Amino acid sequence: MITDKRGGVCFRVDDNQPIPKWTAFAEVFNRHGLKFCAALNFGRMVGNEEYIRLVKDLEAKGHEIMDHTPIHSVDKFPLPQGDDPDPWRARPGVDHVDEKMIYLTYPKIDPKSLAGGRGDISGNQMTSRTPGDLSDPNRNRFTAVYLPDLDRVYMFDQVGEGDRTALKLRSFWNEDNVDLGERRDAFYHKLSKSDVDIALEGRRRMAEAFRRLADELGLRRPVTWIQPGSGGCSDFHREEVRECYGDLYGYLSAATYPNRALKCYNEVDPQGDKAFGMQWGNFDDEGKDLAWNQKRIADGVARHFVLFGHSHFSERVMPDGWDGYLRRIDGLLSWCRETGIPVRTQAEWARILYHTKQDPGVNVFPRLDVDRDGDSIPDGYEISARLDRGDGLSLAVEKIGPVCRVAGLGGLEKGVNVFTVQTRGGGSAEVTFTFSEVGKVERFAFRGGGSAWTSHRGTVTVPPDASLADISIDCTDCSGGGFRINGMDLRQSP
Ligand SMILES: [Zn+2]
Repeated sequence: MITDKRGGVCFRVDDNQPIPKWTAFAEVFNRHGLKFCAALNFGRMVGNEEYIRLVKDLEAKGHEIMDHTPIHSVDKFPLPQGDDPDPWRARPGVDHVDEKMIYLTYPKIDPKSLAGGRGDISGNQMTSRTPGDLSDPNRNRFTAVYLPDLDRVYMFDQVGEGDRTALKLRSFWNEDNVDLGERRDAFYHKLSKSDVDIALEGRRRMAEAFRRLADELGLRRPVTWIQPGSGGCSDFHREEVRECYGDLYGYLSAATYPNRALKCYNEVDPQGDKAFGMQWGNFDDEGKDLAWNQKRIADGVARHFVLFGHSHFSERVMPDGWDGYLRRIDGLLSWCRETGIPVRTQAEWARILYHTKQDPGVNVFPRLDVDRDGDSIPDGYEISARLDRGDGLSLAVEKIGPVCRVAGLGGLEKGVNVFTVQTRGGGSAEVTFTFSEVGKVERFAFRGGGSAWTSHRGTVTVPPDASLADISIDCTDCSGGGFRINGMDLRQSP
């Protein structure tokens, strides 16, 4: 049983980075007795004994090694060593096979709700009837075309710009082998990565291929799957990853791009798939300085979130070079230890956030006296009143209007909760709870008086479909000369 719904952090680094970098990075974590996550492509280590030794070493120290697909691609993987390609051609989920690679099938595209147009095709070149329709500066929204007449999906290279844009079509698997002859006035649909899947049987073949690689390399079978950002034109949805990797191969979690999970305590999770949407990028250990990262982490932890870093060990984005990066990592880890912020692997966080019962009697409202990042603002708060440090920490309310706000508070217990607040001095205030996911607002008002601290209680009902609340306190009457406020507390009755 977790008793304090304490947020925390996870460090994740992707791709088969150079051995000396992993070694130096791991050395910092090992010194602190802390763990990180490495998302690796096992298919690119075959035959590299030095690399396999490195990964075994990381495993032995407790760092989490994750499945980042065999070769950083969701639609193909190498023909396993020693396998005859022929039997592979008949396996479910396999579209075609060559001497080197297995290519996976994609399910039928549903063109409803997909933008479309008409174009002319010659060989592998496609132009649009409406000039500029195929020009799209945002390649995340437009990564492939679907031709309904042929029922095929094609990747492409963009040729030319603006109104003169044409597409040079490539196969779904990025092969340069497309020749569609002459086609006039053909209908097309534009696809984003989240519009295209790999069929369940194809996902199964890829999960089994990774497992076989792990066994052959003598490495542990991973329990976390990480979507490659590049490599194919398909972004898996978290429910698809759960259905395959979770239900069939025992994975605990994943990182997917569409509809990512919030990663906060008591997150609403009706399908049991939020653990498969634990994407990174809440903080940026690679590119940002210590204070920037500390502020984000402190505010997230105060609101009962788990935050993930982001790194490819890319010196190009490090403001202070590789040695500076290692110093910043060391600084972040020291600070996490000093301020009691847990650093765990993704698999550990998946268990805690999504598979552990939480204590409903814990106060989830951020405390005024917690300022882990030392910026003189209580973590998790936006403060509009004056912070008064005499006679205990409180907010001094001197005029009508906003006092403080906590936006996106996690860790909520569904159902009736008790909110408590203390005031001293004369005046009135109102607390507003906004559950924006379900469009519900609850308010209650309280009036203070006298020179002693007085406690006020109200109840608020957290809707079953709400993971987060925005809570603001506003002063509605200050005619008594102002008042002070502290001790905000929100919990299900203890
Ligand atoms: Zn990657």
